[in-house]
Amino acid sequence: MTISAIHYQVLPADPAGHLFQVVLQIQNPNPAGQKFSLPTWIPGSYMIRDFAKNIIDLQAVDSAENSLKITSLDKTSWCIEPCATPVRISYQVYAWDLSVRTAHFDSTHGFFNGTSMFLQVAGQEQNQHSVEILPAPHNQIWLCATTLPKVAVNPQGFGLYRAESYFDLIDFPVEMGTFDQATFIAGGKEHKIIITGKHDCDFERLTKDLAKICQAQIDFFGEAPFEQYLFMVMATGDGYGGLEHKDSTALICRRDDLPFVGMEKPTDDYLQFLELCSHEYFHLWNVKRILPAKYQNPDLAAPVYTDMLWWFEGATSAYDQLFLYRAGIIDTDKYLQLMAKQMTSVYRMPGRLLQSVAESSFHTWTKFYQQAENAPNSIISYYSKGALIVLGLDFEIRKASENKKTIDDLLLKLWTDFGAKNIGLAEGEIEQIASEIAGTDLSWFFDQYLRGTEDLPFADWLAEFGIEFSLRPQANSTDLGGFIPDSSQAISFYNLGANLRATDNQSVLVANVWHESPAYLAGIAAQDEIIAINEIKVKTPAQINGILARTRPGCELTCHFFRRDELMQTKIIVDNPPADRVSLRVIDNKKAERYL
Ligand code: ZN
Repeated sequence: MTISAIHYQVLPADPAGHLFQVVLQIQNPNPAGQKFSLPTWIPGSYMIRDFAKNIIDLQAVDSAENSLKITSLDKTSWCIEPCATPVRISYQVYAWDLSVRTAHFDSTHGFFNGTSMFLQVAGQEQNQHSVEILPAPHNQIWLCATTLPKVAVNPQGFGLYRAESYFDLIDFPVEMGTFDQATFIAGGKEHKIIITGKHDCDFERLTKDLAKICQAQIDFFGEAPFEQYLFMVMATGDGYGGLEHKDSTALICRRDDLPFVGMEKPTDDYLQFLELCSHEYFHLWNVKRILPAKYQNPDLAAPVYTDMLWWFEGATSAYDQLFLYRAGIIDTDKYLQLMAKQMTSVYRMPGRLLQSVAESSFHTWTKFYQQAENAPNSIISYYSKGALIVLGLDFEIRKASENKKTIDDLLLKLWTDFGAKNIGLAEGEIEQIASEIAGTDLSWFFDQYLRGTEDLPFADWLAEFGIEFSLRPQANSTDLGGFIPDSSQAISFYNLGANLRATDNQSVLVANVWHESPAYLAGIAAQDEIIAINEIKVKTPAQINGILARTRPGCELTCHFFRRDELMQTKIIVDNPPADRVSLRVIDNKKAERYL
């Protein structure tokens, strides 16, 4: 059993204190004083999180067990006093954040990302690293799951693993506990799905559907560029999220999103979960292998800025839905419904007229990842509008090439010429390649829709393919867009132009207020607590929607609310909701066949 010159040992030591014990051995430290650090962010989630704040009791010794002085250099890096022998650093990691981005550990399970766990040894990042993951002393039946390459591992999955570099090492999250698991084959490669947390998932259904999605993506790219793939799922009461890695993904979902025995038609919640799986799986090509050059060995101490997330998250958001369709999980109508909802999420944001997608990508570190109450009025998502730019680019490529080329050709070229060859992309390079594929200069397109804030002309584009695009008002409180067969439903809903949430005090909290909406014009602000409408107590957002449903545009409502602890009163004038819900439907099947 050989360990590398940089070797970590991870012990799930104290489940009650949520503490992993880590030992790092550096065989050849810099004799002038070895510097080391912990990343401040995790690739795929663009926010400074300062993981070092969870490091406790950091100590270092030389090979004779003499204690070595450690000097803090900044909030996330240190230096050991000069030492001529191998060095051993020990520390604890506090792991009590249940998210896919950090680490979590208690008596039921342990999960960690390398960015929370492994100190980066300055100057030795490109060397091989090894990790020994030790079994939990408090629970001998635990299993361990990760796609880190194995060196000597016991049947439960604990033992010695290896990574080719530090950047490689931090791309393999680890789950340990008594999770349930199932396997399936796609592209001739083993895929495993594990579920932690209480659940009643129908694994047979889930693996059947996932295998179709994975196979469709592998068929598209022509290869499965990994040895094995792992979906690690944490099932909770109300969580949602995922983070992509080269050979695995960490996901959090609601346990009710998972399929159950006896489910006939997939529920919308299950489809959303499959879309999340499709999204993270697509990332194994797009952003983990096809990627900006500056993401290849990124500076993990500071933000790495790019304008290109319109492609890396936008294309992934467009294709995650498309592959549900291509895999036969959803039909044409459902695909158009999902596309219409994606479009609606853009048209609902007045901020789309103020922030370009290129800016959204560049400033993701502060604006998109740290959204405050004014976000709908001031920013746009590079996921959803990025997806629309990718759909629009598809129409322009089809137009320029007389429907001989599509966005698929651009994606495949990015894979064969860059991803498969491990070549990173320069800023703006995808735009140039798109023009090459189209055979015409498309820089006007990117100036208008990527760096500019114009709405994309979907009505015209889609009409060419027999699909009607229209904007209509919100039909009910859960309406997020899509075609409504019975148009009479789409008339009697009035909203305040505010996101409302129930509070524990049996009142209603205002989360966001849309500019120029009835709530805005009445002077209602985010964090206000609405307690009465027309002098009757209101306890839930549904109750307010019920009151609005009995009004007409122009009606006045008296609203009592608290701002901080001060009681205030205002008049809300009910108005028609804006036409910001996108509806898509096929009106010419023959034309649509060329697109769908
Ligand atoms: Zn993504």
